[in-house]
Amino acid sequence: MSYSRMLVGLGVSPGIAIGPPLVVENRPQPVVRMVLDSEQLKAEITRLHEAARRAAESLADLAAQASATVGQEYAAIFEAHRLMAEDPTLLLQVEEIISRESVNAEWALEEVVQRLLGQFEGLQDVYLRERRTDLLDVATHLQRALQGRATPRLGQAPEGAILVADDIPPSQAIQLARGSVGGFVSETGGITSHTTIIAKSLGIPAVVGVEHVVQAMERAQLLIVDGFEGHVIVDPEPALVQVYSLRAEEYQQRQRELLSVAHLPTVTVDGHVVTLLANIDLLHEVSAAKAGGAVGVGLFRSEFLFMQASPALPDEEQQATAYRQLLDAFPGQPVTVRTYDLGGKKLARELLGNPEDNPVLGLRGVRLCLQKPEFFRTQLRALLRAAGHGQGLLRIMVPLIGHVEEVRTVRVLLDRYREELQAEGHQVPRTIKLGVMIEVPAAALISEHLAKVVDFFAIGTNDLTQYTLAVDRSNEHVAELYRPFHPAVLRLIDRVITAAHRGDITVSMCGEMAADPLAIPVLVGLGLQEFSVHPAALPVVKRLVRALSFKEARRIAHRALGLATAKEVEEYLLEQLSGLLAHLKVRIRL
Ligand code: PEP
Ligand code: MG
Repeated sequence: MSYSRMLVGLGVSPGIAIGPPLVVENRPQPVVRMVLDSEQLKAEITRLHEAARRAAESLADLAAQASATVGQEYAAIFEAHRLMAEDPTLLLQVEEIISRESVNAEWALEEVVQRLLGQFEGLQDVYLRERRTDLLDVATHLQRALQGRATPRLGQAPEGAILVADDIPPSQAIQLARGSVGGFVSETGGITSHTTIIAKSLGIPAVVGVEHVVQAMERAQLLIVDGFEGHVIVDPEPALVQVYSLRAEEYQQRQRELLSVAHLPTVTVDGHVVTLLANIDLLHEVSAAKAGGAVGVGLFRSEFLFMQASPALPDEEQQATAYRQLLDAFPGQPVTVRTYDLGGKKLARELLGNPEDNPVLGLRGVRLCLQKPEFFRTQLRALLRAAGHGQGLLRIMVPLIGHVEEVRTVRVLLDRYREELQAEGHQVPRTIKLGVMIEVPAAALISEHLAKVVDFFAIGTNDLTQYTLAVDRSNEHVAELYRPFHPAVLRLIDRVITAAHRGDITVSMCGEMAADPLAIPVLVGLGLQEFSVHPAALPVVKRLVRALSFKEARRIAHRALGLATAKEVEEYLLEQLSGLLAHLKVRIRL
């Protein structure tokens, strides 16, 4: 007889999903030592060689794909790894340990790898340090092959399955758009980790930070994911399934009702107008954005074009087509395309070659683009070409800016590529709006200087919170400390909005905070002009703005700015707004 169990995590994407689990383990598995009988040793060595052959085959595939797309430089990395995976000297050392110690191949491989790594220890030479990384990569491929773990193909998941994973990188999460996964649950993650953002964009209920959930899936047949409460119910009784099915239906119904405000203006009761734009990660969200009442795009995360095609790199033609499609969907309206924000946790391995020790503070966003000029040139040229033909008004936005010089360099590049394209006979507008994301505290603190060199700001609170509070946005262990309502974050936001007003440039917010019902009155009161949110959140923002008075919002914002802790701010806002939120039937999560 089955009995239900409830696991608890962080509900990060609303909705209810009910379906069978599809378990994916991305983290390396621990290697255990097994002692074998002498008659098993020969078969173990054969198993080792078969695994080496399979690992080499998959590395050869990666090399071929990289060579056809990202270029020979990256293909060479995989090619070198393929050779290492089948290196007779390496395999001989593993064989010797299998025979001498009568142990399994996984354990023997681990011993050899640890010994070789030890030889690199203390070496300062960059070249040798990189070889250490190569060795680790190859060892991972070999171990996966030995453990019989294939790379998951999420695009082909069964209808309505609930993806249950230890960790889901964004590059894997975007494959969900192609499949029919009904919900997802993971051990890692936070409210604004990119995988969460993708789940929200796709309208997939999600719960993250559920400890040991993969382990708990043994023999599990059916799951309920409650993305509101952060609950995962394993093998629910039929009565519970009925209750949750009803809740799922009610939620869908409520979402449909909310859309009834989509065509109404986004204006407060006392006539203060704000602009409502959509965040778009994948092109197929355009219709939901329009249905939700967006009057343009405040953030198109172009790096997802890259990750979707990975390890391929979309060429100029493909990118220009994608940008043009987006522009054509919003005739005469602003369409903000953010240049590639790869790096950090959003990186196709092919681009960087070697992992960084601290990627979130490393070669990410504009830094990576400026260090890979050819790669950036393709994107900027594609954008300029699309601007010349598309019907929307292109705004180019640059992520992770921390220095005025970075903006200047991007401007020089844009001018150079415009001339280049004109000389080739392309039609390119004379001026295109260039803006920056304000998501690094340094940028917020020099926003009055940045306002002189750009046309608009977009406040990225997901990263601004992470970098201001020194809290990893996707680390479930510090999720409690990740507080966009922390007074330090609020003060930076206030400063940026003021600098934009003084510099007479537009200021928007495209971080998740812009969709938080508690934050909306504060942001309106601080003078934020544009809200850019994922399509499902558009009606909520509109409803709230339409129920507020600007005068009241200013009072609330002013008071909130003076409080000392995130908790005080949240409690104050809750006290001020709970009546209104209940009246509008808007749910909040704290
Ligand atoms: C942000 O940092 O707030 C943002 C919108 O960008 P992303 O979430 O893609 O880092
Ligand atoms: Mg960001």
